[in-house]
Parts: sequence; C-alpha cells; structure tokens
Amino acid sequence: MTEKLDIKSMTLPELEQELEKNGWQRFRAKQTREWLLKGVTSFDQMKNIPGGLRQFLDTRYYISVATIEKKLISRYDKTVKYLFSLNDGEFIEAVVMSYHHGVSMCISTQVGCKMGCTFCATGKSGFSRDLTASEMLAQIEAAQRDLNVRISNVVLMGMGEPLDNLGNVLRFIELCGEEKGLHIGARHITLSTCGIVPKIYELASRKLQINLAVSLHAPNDEIRVKTMPVAKAYPMEELLKACRDYFDATGRRVTFEYSMISGVNDSDENARELASRLEGMNCHVNLIPVNTVEGTGYRKSNIQRQQSFVNILTAKGIAATVRRTLGSDINASCGQLKRKHIKEGGK
Ligand code: SAH
Ligand code: SF4
Repeated sequence: MTEKLDIKSMTLPELEQELEKNGWQRFRAKQTREWLLKGVTSFDQMKNIPGGLRQFLDTRYYISVATIEKKLISRYDKTVKYLFSLNDGEFIEAVVMSYHHGVSMCISTQVGCKMGCTFCATGKSGFSRDLTASEMLAQIEAAQRDLNVRISNVVLMGMGEPLDNLGNVLRFIELCGEEKGLHIGARHITLSTCGIVPKIYELASRKLQINLAVSLHAPNDEIRVKTMPVAKAYPMEELLKACRDYFDATGRRVTFEYSMISGVNDSDENARELASRLEGMNCHVNLIPVNTVEGTGYRKSNIQRQQSFVNILTAKGIAATVRRTLGSDINASCGQLKRKHIKEGGK
C-alpha cells in the first residue's frame, strides 16, 4: 500500500484538483477543509460528506493532529505552555503569550534540532525529524480551541531551526494566510534562525513580508563559535551581509536575538563591539537573559549587566530592549518540558 498523504498540508486548490481528478465534485474539497478546520480527527466525523468520499479520503489521506499531553499555566501572567504529541508519538512544545495588542504563539518547526547550540535544551536533545506544514498549523489550532482565543501573531521560535525545514515552513506560511483558515498574514509571522546564510538569501528572494529574527548571541565569531556550532560554517560578516540583503529585498527590519550569558558575552566591551558591527543597520536588538538549562553551567547576566549593555547599544544609535520574560515560573525555555517529560518516563 502506498503511504497516506497529509491532507492538512494541502492548499484548497490542490485538494480541489485531486478530488476532481478522482471524479468528485469540486465543492466537496471546500466542505472537507471546513471539517478539517473544525479540528476533526477522522474522516468519519465529516457528516455532510457522502460515505463513498469519506472512504476515498480515508484510504488516501491522514489527518495530522497535535494532542495536548501537558499544559502549564503561569501564575504570574496568562502564558500557557503546551507539550503536544503528534500522530507518530513524537513530542513538541509551544507557548501562548497574551499581550495587550493580541495573542502570540511560539510554535515548533522540527522535532529536536541539528544545530547543537550549547545553551539550548532542544539542541541538547538531538534531532528526530522535520515537522510538516500541517503539524505547525495543528499547534495553533489546538491552542485556539483549548483557550477559545484567536492567535494573532506567530513566532517560529519553538523547537527546531525553521530554515533547516524551509520547504515545509514556506507551505505553512502560505496555509496560515488563507482567509478561510487561520488567516494570519505574513506580517504577523516571525521566523527565528540561528543564521543559515544561503537559506536567508533564499527566503529573501521570496519577498515575503514575514519578520526575520536572527540569533546572534555574540559580538564576534570567536565568542559565537563557543556556543553556536553553526557559526563555524557561516561567519558573522556573511551573516550580517545576508541580513542587510533581507532588509533590502523585503523592507522588513531585522531583529537580532542576544541571549545574555554571564561572563560569556555580556561585558561592556562585548556591547561596544556589537554596536560597531551593527552600525548603520536598520535593526532591533532583543536582549534575553539566558534561561538556565540543566547541565550547561550557564547563568543569566544580572540586571546591572543587562542595563549597561542596553545603554551602550542605545547610545550608539542601536535600538535595543531587554525582553520581558513572560511565564517565568513555567518557562523552562522550549525543549525543557519535553526533556523533563521523557526523563519521567513519558516516552
Ligand atoms: N532555531 C531557531 C529558533 C528556535 S530557538 C533559532 O535558534 O533562532 C528560539 C530562540 O531561543 C533563539 O534565539 C535561541 O537562541 C533562543 N534560546 C535557546 N535556548 C535558550 C536559552 N536557554 N535561553 C535563552 N534563549 C534561548
Ligand atoms: Fe536549534 Fe535554535 Fe536551539 Fe540552536 S537555539 S539548537 S538553532 S533550536
């Protein structure tokens, strides 16, 4: 038997074409999609679809779901963290954050990650597989249903490196924007990357309106390679050039993520060097006190260090802020909940 296809990763025109090709009426595709959007988990639940078509769909396609295995709610704010299981039993994490301008969700793009950043819980757990577009959508749909809210912004900052799974991510962005679907436009999507340079050019060439966030975490290659193996393949100079190109191609300001690790990358000298590297760029620096991950030995920079770093960048004309930490009591940054779950015998 041939392997079943992932129906939720198909666009409406693709499904229409498939059904027509197989002798079904075109409008059935729309009906099928409506059921899928309602979150049905089997074709049997599609009440207004004739039995024959349901059977056809069932032999040919599968419906991917993200099932809530664990849910943690912050006592301090409304941040919710989910551990989802997928059809094949893999686990991924996602976080929902409420701001006054809307509800934002941080989703995963891979099960694990190949990039091996030393401060990251996901990086420490290795790589299992890419997520399909529908598995990225399924995280948002599950949270919307569970919390009864509309997610207005999406950040690809959960587990995984989105540019290492660009094909599926591009399809996800397309499906996300569908008016009858989640209807989340590219401008409301942020993709965070550790800096895979050729893929940044590829993304820029698509001229999408998504926001690009680049995990820099160091002012130079010498420090960067200590925590990010990817820096060996793509030196910072090339990375910054690609970021400039992204801005020129899309007009979207690039954000740099900078996790502040005590004694590693947080001195005033580091701040001055970073400022000089970023001079003249239309960018924003997001400083994040590093989250402690068991076994790394890294500690977050203290408040004075954080403030001093921001001040130096700002004085040199670089927009910089320390990111407000939401859900600090449940935060275990992405990857940690899964590690804990597996350790406790969840898998
Ligand atoms: N792979 C992508 C996106 C997922 S990681 C990337 O690296 O950009 C999302 C963000 O979380 C990245 O900026 C990453 O560097 C950061 N991050 C990972 N572990 C962290 C930790 N322990 N503390 C603070 N930030 C962390
Ligand atoms: Fe992968 Fe991003 Fe974690 Fe690095 S920080 S290991 S790229 S998920």
